[in-house]
Order: sequence, then C-alpha cells, then structure tokens
Amino acid sequence: MRDQYGREINYLRISLTDRCNLRCCYCRPEIARQLAHSEILTYEEILTVCKAAAALGVQRFKVTGGEPLLRRDCVFFLHQLKLLAERGKVTLTTNGILLPAVVPELVKMGLDGINISLDTLDRQRYAQITGVDRLAEVLQAIRQACAAGIKVKLNCVPLQDMTFAELLELVAFAQNLQVPLRFIELMPLSCNNAVEGLAGSEIRSRLTAAGFTLTPDKNIYGGGPAVYYQLENRKAPIGFIEPLHGKFCACCNRIRLTATGYLKTCLYGHSGVDLRELLRSGADDTKLQQAILQAARQKPLGHDFEHAPAAFTMNEIGG
Ligand code: SAM
Repeated sequence: MRDQYGREINYLRISLTDRCNLRCCYCRPEIARQLAHSEILTYEEILTVCKAAAALGVQRFKVTGGEPLLRRDCVFFLHQLKLLAERGKVTLTTNGILLPAVVPELVKMGLDGINISLDTLDRQRYAQITGVDRLAEVLQAIRQACAAGIKVKLNCVPLQDMTFAELLELVAFAQNLQVPLRFIELMPLSCNNAVEGLAGSEIRSRLTAAGFTLTPDKNIYGGGPAVYYQLENRKAPIGFIEPLHGKFCACCNRIRLTATGYLKTCLYGHSGVDLRELLRSGADDTKLQQAILQAARQKPLGHDFEHAPAAFTMNEIGG
C-alpha cells in the first residue's frame, strides 16, 4: 500500500502492552495509569489486524511495547504472527530482562531478529537511566541470544553525559559479539524535557578523533532507517538513527498499532484510525482493510519533533 506521497508502507510496529519493568528517564519517567486489560487488544484482535495489513502488503512486523515480554504468552503470539506472516519478517524489541527464559522457544519458532536496548555497560549508569539495577541480566540475555544464533541488534539512546569510555565500552562489547550497535537520537517528549541526548555527529567525531575510521556501509541490516558505518578491521557495523538531524520521513515505510488498537500513521502526531472500535463493532476483513488503507493514505508528510515535543510517553506507542 502507498500513501498520498507515494511512500510504500510495508512495516507495522505492534505494541503489545503499555507496561514496562523499566522507567527510562527519556521514555516514561513517571509511573502513569496502566491500561486495563479490557482496553488493550486481545491477541486474536491483533492477529486480525496483522492479517489485514499483510493482505495490503505489510511484510515486516516488529513486536514492541512497553516491554512485550511482560505480556503473558508473548512467545505464543509471536509464533502465531510468524505463521501468519509466511515469508514476512517478525522481529521483537525488548529490554532483555525477561529474555533468557524464552530464548530457546524464540529460536524454535524462527523469530527473525531481536533488538535489545542497551544504553550503557556501567552498572550504576544503567540503574540511573532505567531506574533498576538489572544490567547483569540484560548482558546475560544478549550473550545467550547471540549464542543461540538469533540475529541481535543493540539499541542505545545516547545521553549528553555519556563518557567516551562508556561509548568505547559499548562499541567493544558489540564488536566482540559481532552484532550491530545502533545509536538512536533522543526524541523530545513532553515527559523528557529535562533529558538531553548526545548527537550522532558528536559520536562520529569522538570516534574519528580517537583514530577510528568510519566507512559508510551500504549493506542492508533490516527494514529501518539506520545509516551504517564499518569501523576499520572491525566485525560489525555501527548505525545511527537520527529522526531529527537525519530526518528520514521522506522514506518512512511504517505504521504503528498501539496496545489499545489505535493505528498511528506517524509516530509524532495523532493521525490514524481507531481499529479497536471497528474490530469490536464487528467489522469484517474488507472493512478493516479499507480503514487501514484510508488511514495509511493520509500518513503525514513528516514529524515535527524539531518544533515541539510530542505529548505522549514512548511506552504508549512502542518507539
Ligand atoms: N521495551 C522495549 C525495548 O526496550 O526495546 C520496547 C519498547 S521501547 C519504547 C523501544 C525503543 O524506544 C527502545 O530502544 C528505547 O530506548 C527507545 N526509546 C524510548 N524513548 C525514546 C525517545 N524519547 N527517543 C528515542 N528512543 C526512545
């Protein structure tokens, strides 16, 4: 399916829950009201939406949250989604804390990849950023997923006060495991205005000043907007996702389903359609497809993060 600007929409992010076991300072710093079970879509309802999306050309499904692994039977859902997606890709994004227990099942069901959030290797800093002292579990999860042969990518939201030593440690950790490390530019939300991110350009200059050569890497490592570089003699690329300084709305291929069943056509604004209402009023597959198509056509040209912070917490949408 294409929007009114000719962009192909083939990627759906699905938030399974607003709940999270972290309280990252840039994502959802306050404890907010949690959604009631009746407010969130059932797995059956989500799969109905995914089936309609697949019929319209969606080939990549990213399962997110909140923390998706907090939702009961998440792996069962992933498996059902994988069967539905046929040759499409199903991937997960997680903070890793609950991952070790489900790695074997994820391998068995053929999950296509996992993004794991890792902002620092410093235990104290991790606790400061996320509100919990659980770095060791996350590191174990990353090692275990890699050892099991799952395609892993690490996602770091670099903050202004990240030291060069911290940066180098993260790079070395990712290189040792031979996994891509991606730096995601902090998106300003009304809940995180006290937090300042570290620009991708600053990270690149710091690495260059320390003697690293960053060579643009044109290989494709997924369906997203990251720009990759190879470090000389190194074993995995580092990537930059820069929604503000490397604005990529012109090639945005994604739509998002919130846990409450709202199909958002741009991360930033409210444009979209309430699919929960449609699903619960008995809409058939054709009606659902029409609603998705119509909403996708109206996808805004771009976000406006550079002018005003967005008025949501990221766990509501799934990033
Ligand atoms: N809990 C899961 C995880 O950790 O991947 C999935 C949800 S989380 C909202 C998805 C990603 O969004 C994480 O990598 C997180 O660091 C990132 N994120 C959250 N708030 C952000 C913000 N304000 N700007 C940029 N990235 C953000």
